[in-house]
Amino acid sequence: QYPLDVREYLYKILVIGDVSTGKTSIIKRYVHNIFSMNYKSTIGVDFALKVIQWSPDTVIRLQLWDIAGQERGNMARVYYKEAIAALVVYDVTRPKTFEAVKRWKADLDSKVSLPEALGGGPIHTILLANKIDLQENGNGSPNAEEMDLFCQEHGFLKWFATSAKDNSNIEDAAQFLLEEIMATE
Ligand code: GDP
Ligand code: MG
Repeated sequence: QYPLDVREYLYKILVIGDVSTGKTSIIKRYVHNIFSMNYKSTIGVDFALKVIQWSPDTVIRLQLWDIAGQERGNMARVYYKEAIAALVVYDVTRPKTFEAVKRWKADLDSKVSLPEALGGGPIHTILLANKIDLQENGNGSPNAEEMDLFCQEHGFLKWFATSAKDNSNIEDAAQFLLEEIMATE
């Protein structure tokens, strides 16, 4: 059949969380498959685009918004506008960054929601427990039951233990989020 009818979707996805939790590293890993120990800290917001051939007739363009960790507050409403999904990132070696997750989620929910046509609820959000490669002897590693409960209570669809350094679970997390998004289309 010719021409093939290709459907294209453009999605804005936010990557938020405290400073130095690995947001930029996760995006670089996901989009370019690279890792560096010294990314300059993000100022304001950075963008990355990833194009995905979702199926033979469906292309997804993901616009990833890499938001500086200090930006919860005034500018956030502008940055969050029209996002359909979010990754909230914390650093498993720094408990304070996990405490901040609730504040990031609350901030998100207060400033952005799905379009009316999709029901207007909170945007699709997952939690990334990053730098899992630094965990020694399971010390401080997330307890699966506690994390599941935390996700239920705070409106995260799911959590993933990730490492941008070792490239673990980032692709899986993104795939899960995309499936959630596509299921509501
Ligand atoms: P951001 O401020 O949230 O964007 O954090 P960055 O991506 O700039 O990362 C902060 C620091 O943590 C950098 O030195 C990264 O190399 C390092 N980093 C990020 N992700 C990982 C990871 O999964 N494992 C390890 N060991 N280091 C990481
Ligand atoms: Mg950054």
